[in-house]
Amino acid sequence: MHPDDKEYVLSVLENHLKNDGPYDVEYRFKHKSGKYIWLRGCGQVIRNKRGKAVRMAGSITDITKRKQTERDLYENQEKFRHAMLFAPIGKAISEIDGRYIKVNSALCETLGYTEEELLACDFQSLTYFEDVDTELSYRKKLLEGEMSSFQMDKRYVHKDGHLVWALLNESLAHNETGVPLYFISHIQDISQRKAYEEELRLVSNVFSNTLDGILIADASGTILKINAAFTDILGYTSEELVGQHMRMLISQKDSNDFIRCMWSRLYRKGVWQGEIREYHKNGNRVPIWLSITTISDEQKRPKRYVAVLHDMSEQKLSQERIHHLAHYDVLTGLPNRVLLLDRLSHALSAARRNHNKLALLFIDLDKFKHINDSRGHFVGDELLIKVAERISTHVRDADTLSRLSGDEFVLLIDNLSAESHIKKVATKVLDSLSKPFELTGGQVYLTASIGIAIYPEDGDTPDLLLRHADLAMYKSKENGRNHFHFYAEEMGVRIKEQIKLNTDLRNAIKEKSLMLYYQPIMDIETGTCIGAEALLRWQHPKMGWIEPEKFIPIAEDNDLINILGEWVLLTACRQMKKWLEEGHSLKSLSVNVSGKQIIAGNFVDAAKRVMKETNCPKDSITLELTESLIMEGSEEVLQTQHQLRKLGFGLSIDDFGTGFSSLNYLKRMPLTQLKLDRSFVMGIPDNANDVRHGKII
Ligand code: GH3
Ligand code: MG
Repeated sequence: MHPDDKEYVLSVLENHLKNDGPYDVEYRFKHKSGKYIWLRGCGQVIRNKRGKAVRMAGSITDITKRKQTERDLYENQEKFRHAMLFAPIGKAISEIDGRYIKVNSALCETLGYTEEELLACDFQSLTYFEDVDTELSYRKKLLEGEMSSFQMDKRYVHKDGHLVWALLNESLAHNETGVPLYFISHIQDISQRKAYEEELRLVSNVFSNTLDGILIADASGTILKINAAFTDILGYTSEELVGQHMRMLISQKDSNDFIRCMWSRLYRKGVWQGEIREYHKNGNRVPIWLSITTISDEQKRPKRYVAVLHDMSEQKLSQERIHHLAHYDVLTGLPNRVLLLDRLSHALSAARRNHNKLALLFIDLDKFKHINDSRGHFVGDELLIKVAERISTHVRDADTLSRLSGDEFVLLIDNLSAESHIKKVATKVLDSLSKPFELTGGQVYLTASIGIAIYPEDGDTPDLLLRHADLAMYKSKENGRNHFHFYAEEMGVRIKEQIKLNTDLRNAIKEKSLMLYYQPIMDIETGTCIGAEALLRWQHPKMGWIEPEKFIPIAEDNDLINILGEWVLLTACRQMKKWLEEGHSLKSLSVNVSGKQIIAGNFVDAAKRVMKETNCPKDSITLELTESLIMEGSEEVLQTQHQLRKLGFGLSIDDFGTGFSSLNYLKRMPLTQLKLDRSFVMGIPDNANDVRHGKII
């Protein structure tokens, strides 16, 4: 007998001897083979008549097999209990309807409930609503035997309300006859994995979708990965680059010093950033803002390099666009005043250093306003563009042709070899402009006036040279336009004088130093005065009497002529009204009107205003226009004449016969009077030609 069982068996037997009745005891017994076997001894004591135990009768059964089975069962149960209770992942057993009947502590911990609380729940109430149906449908398949187990990622609702991602493994337990008993669930908390996956997804999304190019290389510089934006920016695909060394992206043309500097900083600081011009696969250079970051391992050794490339092409383009807008004229594309002055000051510095000369040609188109007025601003613009093109053909690369404003162009001739060269250029410019321009609505003829200033003779600053070239240009205008003139010092004095006169003239109306004189018009036959012509006179407070020939052109150069003209008409009409009221029988008072007033386009309104204010009979006023204006023959001028006639004014042509008069034009005009130029009659009565009578045929 097994030593451990001896005592127990003896005690059973002893007890049995005392109490009688059968006994039943199990114990281990040594088999002949030396192995212990389990035996079950059952029997009874047999007594004699005196009650003395004499024998034992019973049976001994080998129960080794049964004992083994029992032990296996027990061990299995224990294992299950351990597996259930102490497993690091959540486990649960639930009824077919979903109610929990067993849960382990890991599940309690994952979901934040106590065991009792969980046992009062079913799986549905703990599952995030979006995942309930999926789990139910799987459970149904288990019940219908379509599958023996299933696995799904699902979300539980933690007691505090947050969602817990779990990997659920579920199977169905049956009894011996195959009837479903309960679901066995293994629930593994995978929140961390999910969060990690989410982060990876996010990083991968950023990597794929960012507009910046990204390149990842290992510590040796071998390219591991590039994103789509990288391909967009530099043209290389992932297949072409992955496995290659980063070196292949560095152009031989880049200076070695630059590359060395970049790597040295990268080693020292772990990061490098700066602007580079990287080669695109197609050979073009792309402006890029590059940031390289080193990713190190625990031992602080470089493990990866991450290069982020920001394409600056757009930025550069808009910078260039802004620069262009600030420095170039939008209409003609020529450099504007800002760029001209910049180039001029550089050219002046160089000329000073090298003792060179340079020249400025100030080009102003003649009567350009007239083209604008008669053909419209659009055609004016078209002409300016074509003028720019034509002048450009006579400009060397080193020279700068710019549009200063309106119809003013300035040509800077740098590094001037001889003054004769300027004359040649100026002549070429004038010649090229004299050919007709084909514009919308027909041809246009044009001339220009040019003023020239030279460094160092005529000035040594951009401002001075420009001003002097401008003054010289005015001289060309004065001399009948379509000319060029070199600056001469006295021009400045004269122009200053004119500017002063201009200012004084503005004040003259207010100060009443302007006045009208009336020259009578006599009827030769009767010898009576039948009218008068109003003549403007100016008595300057310091300069005395100033001829109209001197101050009218100054007024005509700006809108002063309109103010002056209206004042003249107003004053004359008041006088005429007065004379008529006093009973003088005058037929007409003549008032001179400058061609500029008519061309300005608002003379009719001015005339109406004056007549309304003075209440002077309109047919008593004759407006005298110059022949040159009339002969320009523009439709607008003709229309204005008709309007004035309709209002009742008489119309006269002054100094008729001196210009290119055409009887044909005359026919179309609603004139009431022609005034022959004095040159025709001055010789009377001594000059036979002047006296000769003719007949109108
Ligand atoms: P002058 O012979 O005395 O130079 O007479 P002008 O008519 O050419 O007069 P001026 O040079 O003083 O005036 C230039 C005109 O150009 C003034 C304005 O009406 C016109 N202008 C200015 N800028 C533009 C533009 O961008 N486009 C067009 N079409 N006309 C312009
Ligand atoms: Mg002009």
